Amino acid sequence: MSEHPRVRFAPSPTGYLHIGGVRTALFNWLWARKNHGTFVLRIEDTDQERSTPQSMQVILDSMRWLGLDWDEGPEVGGPNGPYFQMQRLHLYREYADKLIASKRAYRCYCTKEELAAAREKLKQENPKANFVYPGTCRDRTDHPDRPHVVRFNMKGVNRETTTYRDLVFGEVTTPNSAQQDFVMLRSDGVPLYNFGVVIDDLTMGITLVMRGRDHMVNTPPQILLYEALECATPAFAHLPMMLAPSGEKLSKRHGAVSVGEYETNGFLPMGVLNYLARFGWSHGDQEIFSRGDLIDKFDLEHLGRPDGRFDAKKFADVNFEHLKEERLTDLESYARQVLPFLAKRGLDAVDPGKLRAAIPTIRQRARTLIEAAEALDFYLRDKPVYDPAAVKKVLTPECVDNLEAVAGAIESIDKFDQPGIEAAIQALLTARGLQMKAIAQPARVALTGKTASPGLYELMEVLGREACLARLRAGIELARGGRS
Ligand code: GLU
Repeated sequence: MSEHPRVRFAPSPTGYLHIGGVRTALFNWLWARKNHGTFVLRIEDTDQERSTPQSMQVILDSMRWLGLDWDEGPEVGGPNGPYFQMQRLHLYREYADKLIASKRAYRCYCTKEELAAAREKLKQENPKANFVYPGTCRDRTDHPDRPHVVRFNMKGVNRETTTYRDLVFGEVTTPNSAQQDFVMLRSDGVPLYNFGVVIDDLTMGITLVMRGRDHMVNTPPQILLYEALECATPAFAHLPMMLAPSGEKLSKRHGAVSVGEYETNGFLPMGVLNYLARFGWSHGDQEIFSRGDLIDKFDLEHLGRPDGRFDAKKFADVNFEHLKEERLTDLESYARQVLPFLAKRGLDAVDPGKLRAAIPTIRQRARTLIEAAEALDFYLRDKPVYDPAAVKKVLTPECVDNLEAVAGAIESIDKFDQPGIEAAIQALLTARGLQMKAIAQPARVALTGKTASPGLYELMEVLGREACLARLRAGIELARGGRS
């Protein structure tokens, strides 16, 4: 295989980017990045009803969010454009004309009505038979201006079978009798999938076609087209499918399948990519990969054949690993990615230093960026949002003295850091003969507004002395309020 592969991802815009499609995009992207190749993004927009500018934009936005950057394609251009099929109709026409000239294709003037009648007739004779176009127009030479489709001429194929070496599935042989004179171009000049994809791959110099195994049925007619054009075929690698837990095709019915939903639900791009990387590829027992790790380790040898089943829990766990580990998501990146989720809570001008200090205290527990924003919330407001139930239960008049003592103890600490705070509070407990629990919950509710939070000493250090004192005083007021 060429040293600098040219690979592509060719989604049809349907309004969202399906995670199964992302797995295909990811493998192609990894192969390009690993081998200093070229990753082409190409849009199959021939279904004009579904292919709106909005549905296109969703794909581009999702690809960018995932960090799957493309070297050629929409918005970045490139020497093999345009990258939208509907802007390439002249090319399909040109290649169709070539094949007509060499008699490997022909114009078919049969009308829809004629074809429908032929189908109906066959159905009457044999309800189970599959209609195969009988080649009626193969030798017709009507004027090319009459409405026509262009069909591939199977009569020009002089072998019984088509064989190719799939990089995943090995040698695949299909009888050519399975093919008919398939339509390449519709009467409006729009290509059907097999013809469009071949002309695109050919003219874009694609060296390896890596796509879902649901396309294996399309590969033989595509190879016949390459041969008819007397061109070399690219290599093919078909990838196993991502199925629903039930074994059906994974669809919206089975939960979130669009990339956009994972973004909204607070997943990290790398959480998504890491989970998908393991669908059809493995590297020993390793489950968790950084982006660099995937590029380093990805190979074609370890692409597997068995289909995989989507596992939402495992997906969430993999995402959580990426949130937890500084090695996988460094502080800067975590901070940047949690910002939109803080903004959704009305926190749109947060102190970056405070945010960076707070993240390490919450990242061991937050499974999504939504949970992270929730856990960070109290650090980033002037006053925490007090949970009324927590206040009622914990901030009772009995804790006023203890809260006052905590405030007094931290006022005089020299260095307001975790060890200093811990020492001051331990000294207070000893002096008063108290257990930690006598002050921990009241202080926690006063400082954070909630009964669950990071460790008291670490959160106090992040809040800083002034904020702690102000919050303890506010807590004392609330606790006193309970008395009247
Ligand atoms: N538009 C096709 C799909 O989304 C592309 C198939 C191919 O890669 O050839 O499945």
